Amino acid sequence: MSKVKDAYKEIEGIIGSDFISDKDFMKAAYSRNVDPAFPDRWADIIVRPESTEEVSEIVKIANKYKIPMVPRGGGADLVGGSVSEGGILIDLTRMNKIIEINEKDYYCEVECGITWGALLSELQGQGLTTGVLGPGSGYSATIGGGLSNSTAGFGSTKYGVIPDICLGVEVVLPNPQGTIIRTGAAANKYAKPFCRYGVAPDFTGLFMGDVGTMGIKTKAFLRLHPETPFKAERYYMLKKNDYNIVSELMYKLRKELRDGLHDLLVVPIIVVQLLAGMVENKPVKRPRLKGPVFSILVESTDGRVLEVYLEQIENIMKDDARPFEWQEIDPEAPLSKDWEFNLKYAYHYFNKFISVAPPKISCTTCHKVPISALSKVANLSNQFDINYRDEFPPQSIALFATVIFLLPNGNCVVVGGFNADNVDKQREKSMKMWHKKLRFQVRYGGIHYWLGEAISQSIVEANAYTPEFIQFFKDMKKAVDPNYLLSPKKFHMYSYDHDLSEHFVKEEK
Ligand SMILES: Cc1cc2nc3c(=O)[nH]c(=O)nc-3n(C[C@H](O)[C@H](O)[C@H](O)COP(=O)(O)OP(=O)(O)OC[C@H]3O[C@@H](n4cnc5c(N)ncnc54)[C@H](O)[C@@H]3O)c2cc1C
Repeated sequence: MSKVKDAYKEIEGIIGSDFISDKDFMKAAYSRNVDPAFPDRWADIIVRPESTEEVSEIVKIANKYKIPMVPRGGGADLVGGSVSEGGILIDLTRMNKIIEINEKDYYCEVECGITWGALLSELQGQGLTTGVLGPGSGYSATIGGGLSNSTAGFGSTKYGVIPDICLGVEVVLPNPQGTIIRTGAAANKYAKPFCRYGVAPDFTGLFMGDVGTMGIKTKAFLRLHPETPFKAERYYMLKKNDYNIVSELMYKLRKELRDGLHDLLVVPIIVVQLLAGMVENKPVKRPRLKGPVFSILVESTDGRVLEVYLEQIENIMKDDARPFEWQEIDPEAPLSKDWEFNLKYAYHYFNKFISVAPPKISCTTCHKVPISALSKVANLSNQFDINYRDEFPPQSIALFATVIFLLPNGNCVVVGGFNADNVDKQREKSMKMWHKKLRFQVRYGGIHYWLGEAISQSIVEANAYTPEFIQFFKDMKKAVDPNYLLSPKKFHMYSYDHDLSEHFVKEEK
C-alpha cells in the first residue's frame, strides 16, 4: 500500500490536491459503468488531470511504482471498460476544450475529454457537423471514449464509425517516459492537422478501438462537414417477419440512395411489440403488427432532391412493406412528416433499445455482421438462446437484436444482448453467460466494437486470433507500454510473457 501512498503524494504535487482523491465516496462514485454483470470495482486513486503534460507526469509516476492505470471519459461504457479494480483511474473530463474549429478547411482540434453534446452544440451554431454524432450517451460520453470504443451512432449509415472521422490524435504513451506523440498530418511539425494519411504509416489506427490499452488520447483532430439543411424520416412496417427480406431491402436502399441515406435502422417485430406494451396511453385500436419496422432517414442539400429520395424509398419498399407511424402504437409519438432533427433526437433515438425493459440493464452483445449474413445469424442466435435457456439469469430476456442499423458498405450493427438485474447474487451467472454468448458470436464471424473488458476477453477466449497475430499484438503493446500497465485486464494482456492460450475456452456444443 505504501507505493500507492507515495505515488499519491507525487501526483498530488503535479496536479494539486483538488484533483486527486482516494476517499471512499469518490471510489464508490467511479466504481461502475452501465453493465450489470460487473461488481463495483474501486480504484486506489482517482485523478483528474487538466493537460497533456499532467497526464504524461502521471504516467511516469505510475511506471515508477508499477501501478496499473485505466483511462476514463464519460464512463458510459457498457462492457466494464472505464473502471479499475485498484490502480489509478484517470478521468479525462477536465480536458474539455475546443482548440480550433476550422470552418474553411473542415477540421477541428479538441481535447479528448469534451463531450459530444458540448462539441456538437458549438458546431451546430456554426452550421457544421462531424457527420456521425457520437453515441446515444453523447450528452456525457466523450470524444476520447468514442475513438477508443469505435463508436457507431446517429449518422453512422452515411458517415461510418467515429474512427472514420478521425484525422489524428495526440497520445500519451504509457511508457516510463510518458512520451507524447501526434499522429496523422499533425506528426509533421510543420503541418496543420487537416488529413490523416501521407506522413507516415497510419499510426492513428493503433489507438482507434483500442479501448484504452495502447495510449491515453489527449487531443483529437476530427473531420467536419457543412450541415445538410434538408432531412426527412419515414417508417415502414414489413408485411412479413423475414430477415432475408430485411437484407434485400437494406441492399436496395444502399444501392439506390447512396449518399442520400443518412440512417437506416430496423426495429425487430418483438421490440415493436415490447414498446407497444410499454406505452402508457395505449391507442383504442391497434393494427396487427406483422414485421420489423424500417426507420429511414435521408438528407440532401436541396429540398427537391429530398422529395426524389422519398419517392425512391416508396418504390423500393412498396411490395414488401406498408408505411407505418409510431402513433399506431403510441398516440403521443410525432408523425414522420412532422419529424425534425435536433441533438436531443440524435441522443435519444437509440436509448430505448439499450434497455428494452427497465430497470434491468443489458449485458450487451452488439456486433457487426455482413448484411447477407443477417438471416443466418438471427437463426443461430435464437437457437443459442433456446439451447442455453437455463443458464441465463432468472427472468432475463435475450434478444438477437433490439435494433439493427446499416453502416457504410455492406455491413450492419446488430444491437442486442440479454438483460440482467444489477444485483450481486446474479452477477456471476450473468458474467458466465455473457462471455459464452460473446464467444459464440465471435465464432460465427461477428465483429464487435466497444470491447471493454467483457468483450475483449471473450475474443481471446474464443481463440479468434492466430498465434502470429497474438505475437504481433503483444509486441505492439510492449513497444508502447513495456510494463503492461495500461488497462491490463483487457484482452487478458497482463504481461508480455502471459500465455493467452490459458484463457481459450473450447467451442460450445
Ligand atoms: C444509454 C447509452 C447509449 C449508448 N449508445 C451508444 C451508441 O449509440 N453507440 C455506441 O457505440 N455506444 C453507445 N453506448 C456505449 C458508450 O456510451 C459509448 O461507446 C461511448 O462512446 C463511450 O464514451 P465514454 O466517454 O463514456 O467512454 P468511457 O466509458 O469513459 O470509456 C470507454 C472506453 O474507452 C477508454 N477511454 C476513454 N477515454 C479515453 C482516452 N481519452 N484515451 C484512451 N482511452 C480512453 C476507456 O478506458 C474505456 O475502455 C451507449 C451507452 C449508453 C449507456
